[in-house]
Amino acid sequence: PCSGLAVNCGKVEEVENQEEGTTRKPVIEYHGIDQVLVEEMVYEALVWSSLHGLVVGDKSVQRSGKVPGVGLVHAPFALLPMPFPENQWRQAVELTPIFSELVDRVSLDGKFLQESLSRTKKADAFTSRLLDLHSKMLEINKKEDIRLGLHRSDYMLDEQTKLLLQIELNTISCSFPGLSSRVTELHRNLLNHYGEVLGLDPKRIPGNNAYSYFVEAFAKAWTEYNNPRALVMFVVQAEERNMYDQHWLSAVLKERYNITAIRKTMAEIDAEAELLSDGTLLVGGKAIAVIYFRAGYAPNDYPSESEWRARLLMEQSSAIKCPSISYHLAGTKKIQQELAKPDVLERFLDNKEDIAKLRKCFAGLWSLDDPNIVKEAIERPELFVMKPQREGGGNNIYGADVREALLRLQKEGTDGSAAYILMQRIFPTVFQTFLLRNGICHKDYAVSELGIYGAYLRNKDNVIMNDQCGYLLRTKISSSDEGGVAAGFAVLDSIYLT
Ligand code: ADP
Ligand code: MG
Ligand code: MG
Repeated sequence: PCSGLAVNCGKVEEVENQEEGTTRKPVIEYHGIDQVLVEEMVYEALVWSSLHGLVVGDKSVQRSGKVPGVGLVHAPFALLPMPFPENQWRQAVELTPIFSELVDRVSLDGKFLQESLSRTKKADAFTSRLLDLHSKMLEINKKEDIRLGLHRSDYMLDEQTKLLLQIELNTISCSFPGLSSRVTELHRNLLNHYGEVLGLDPKRIPGNNAYSYFVEAFAKAWTEYNNPRALVMFVVQAEERNMYDQHWLSAVLKERYNITAIRKTMAEIDAEAELLSDGTLLVGGKAIAVIYFRAGYAPNDYPSESEWRARLLMEQSSAIKCPSISYHLAGTKKIQQELAKPDVLERFLDNKEDIAKLRKCFAGLWSLDDPNIVKEAIERPELFVMKPQREGGGNNIYGADVREALLRLQKEGTDGSAAYILMQRIFPTVFQTFLLRNGICHKDYAVSELGIYGAYLRNKDNVIMNDQCGYLLRTKISSSDEGGVAAGFAVLDSIYLT
């Protein structure tokens, strides 16, 4: 809880900028804010979240993941926005269309995807199934003329070097386009009321309309598909406590564009879907124009062959898949590591400046067949993160466990190590924060990860959309390794430009 003595230094303090000597930049010391004021803001923020759909299903209510309107609780969020330097923010924004273009180019190179992942295939059964699906599409020479990507590239700001470094690029099921927009609204609202007392300017929180762009991308893709009777289909998990994040998209899609989105699990799709000879995907007798995956990224999403059949059927169809199997694979951590090797970006992009911009945000990334790096990681495991080919948070290996895992893999001496990549560990600046979860306010020290959403839509040679479209800031207690909000490690946040 937000206990702690009230101190009178909650305001933004103007201090000398060491490097430039002249500019003065604010330092934000949230823990100094008067406690009575904090409690007032907490109350107001909790009311605001409930009234404005900043909500998730409550774990303690059994039906909350199935039945909308049952067992709602506010999404975990930070009371006040995190300071973030404007330059690095602009840099992240500027990288977005370049990464989307890169994903598109990589997706067209089936051989590169298959070859880069060939050793991973032997070590990781899930990736192997995805690759099989991809091989089948190569065999039948499946072409995706209309391609829709809704990505999120995640970054951390390395404190020592001040470099903005990419954590990963997500190409499937990027979460929180709905709720992140809400959090930004909440923070702007709070600063409209309390900004003066706090010495904070609401205009320094960049606007965030991720949901709006996502919906626009669905509508534009739907238009390209060109069947006025067709629907958009959200592929979802059977139980989804983050359903309101998704409902923000489907509700606005209906409201603004009068396009209907249905929600189906992979098992339901297997039971209800049919593929017509012209490639049309029918689900429950209705044609599907756009398939938006909010499931299908993790082994748990495929408890039986039924789900794999559904994924195959969707992939074979002419529906616009967000993502296609190629886009999905282009977002794996192994491909991230391959793209960071010398001269690989040059295979996919022509513009030298773009290539330099991407490379600047690459952290150290290595495959485990580099004996020198493995040796170094065994000696200094705290400087590395070991990552399997998984999504959704909670899968990485840190600290002493890195050493242990590497030694075990060495001893086994099999293909097992190909399931992982090694990454340079990034150490972001620690800030004071208040984290709200379950109506309880925790005063703590935290680090943040900035994700920029990107929407990419093209039809053959015509790029219809390639924009940055809002952001997600996730803030987690600085002593925690992982960062997922749904996984319970982090809270939603927004940025305060410094
Ligand atoms: P996932 O696809 O499961 O989200 P990530 O690569 O994003 O996998 O890793 C999960 C979390 O682990 C991140 O959100 C971040 O908090 C932390 N993390 C990942 N890579 C690094 C790194 N190189 N340095 C520090 N923390 C990292
Ligand atoms: Mg991911
Ligand atoms: Mg991640």
